[in-house]
Amino acid sequence: MQYPPALAIVSFHSGAGKTTLLEGIIRILTRMGYRVCVIKHSAHNEIRDSGKDTFKYREAGAAASTLLQSSGYLEVCSQSADLPLAIDVASRFNPDIVLCEGFKDSGLPKIAVVESSELGLGTQLQGVVAFVLKEDVAPVSGVTSLPHDPSAVAAFIESRFLTPRRKVPLTDRYGRRILGIRMSLTQRCNLNCVYCHHEGEGSPSGEMHTDEVLRILRLARDLGMRRVKFTGGEPLLRRDLGGIIAYSYALGFEDVGVTTNGQLLRERALELHEAGLRRLNLSLPSVDPTVYRSITGGDLRNVVEGLEAARRLGIHVKINTVVMRGINDSSIDTILEFARRHSSQLQLIELEDLHLDKGFFEKYHVDLAQTEQMLSGASDSVVERGEMNRRRVYLVKGLPIEIVRPVSNPNFCTGCTRIRVTSDGKVKPCLMRDDLLFDLLGGIRSGWTDDRLKGLFMSAVSAREPFYR
Ligand code: SAM
Repeated sequence: MQYPPALAIVSFHSGAGKTTLLEGIIRILTRMGYRVCVIKHSAHNEIRDSGKDTFKYREAGAAASTLLQSSGYLEVCSQSADLPLAIDVASRFNPDIVLCEGFKDSGLPKIAVVESSELGLGTQLQGVVAFVLKEDVAPVSGVTSLPHDPSAVAAFIESRFLTPRRKVPLTDRYGRRILGIRMSLTQRCNLNCVYCHHEGEGSPSGEMHTDEVLRILRLARDLGMRRVKFTGGEPLLRRDLGGIIAYSYALGFEDVGVTTNGQLLRERALELHEAGLRRLNLSLPSVDPTVYRSITGGDLRNVVEGLEAARRLGIHVKINTVVMRGINDSSIDTILEFARRHSSQLQLIELEDLHLDKGFFEKYHVDLAQTEQMLSGASDSVVERGEMNRRRVYLVKGLPIEIVRPVSNPNFCTGCTRIRVTSDGKVKPCLMRDDLLFDLLGGIRSGWTDDRLKGLFMSAVSAREPFYR
């Protein structure tokens, strides 16, 4: 295993301000896009329970447990004698740096938070690289003196121990930049929508563990991807979703989204919001309870209550409606009204012929070109998005509406800037292709290095076609 740099932040007595300083350093480094892991002492070999905003990862041996904090860094609890084991556990998450709180007697390089009177003691510490002092005192030769200010210490750590990360996006053979990753977290679902394309997954072989999801996100971020959308199956069925979202932000993803059927949203909205989620897509094919049940098998009330809970928290909601002939195409106005009433955005989606019965597709597919024309005439204004093939957003009586026409729009693929990862960890360059998969998870489970895994990602990107064929 490759070990990241590890540093001990130490002091000689409690109350020296070590913990506050450490928290500040973590906040700054994670904001800068570095993956930070913190190792703390633990009196017992406890496996800490998952609180509402923490996620208990997994027992890792007898002497360390890990917690993915909702603010996106990883905490490992360890007994001091087990520091090498704790670093080993932390390294499985591939952090850029491991910060150890305490561990004065370890052989790690140390940043010592000291009073000026303790400088003499400090110089006796093995491997001290910097003193953090509240007062301005004469520097000690060979040791950097830093003010008790997390920004200054974080900058010192970056310059001394971290290497700048690649942020230039990958580009495919047709000049399309790969800016986003759409990651399926599970194929389990609590609904059974008649139209579901299952994100183009045939028969997935199991699901990724949390650490595997995090590793793929980190690789994607290192390869310059800026946006991530979590899908499924139903992503809210995964208990670790909050931690995954928080980690994504900590990695520096600028835009983190989730697409959900909303059945569990009322219960989980607060936790997801606390993890940083600010926008989601909500699948809603009808606002008539009977029609909704006949399409999805679920209860419309759960979705409405989930939507209301999300909106109360200020989460931006885009309602996704797959339009089907004879089922909901004549009630688009009602959905429009509903979306407006709930201060949401609306996205009308053309039915895609994927994992569907041929007869089903032909019977229910509606070309939305006419609907788009009609909206264009009725809209107060039209805004072109700078991406997604400059897709238009029509503002109709204050409601933003988008039309997604993957089927009847010949230019759809030219605006594609994202790549998919299936729930069983395969890179899938095109939603519509089942025969073009790159087994990232297989590589992870075979112990591949980051560089080799990134190589696989790059192969997937260079296999992208100009359009679906
Ligand atoms: N369970 C989640 C949900 O309902 O949003 C995520 C999975 S669902 C497969 C993701 C998105 O795919 C939803 O927005 C849904 O409307 C869309 N979708 C599913 N089947 C489709 C199809 N045949 N054609 C077009 N869009 C489809």
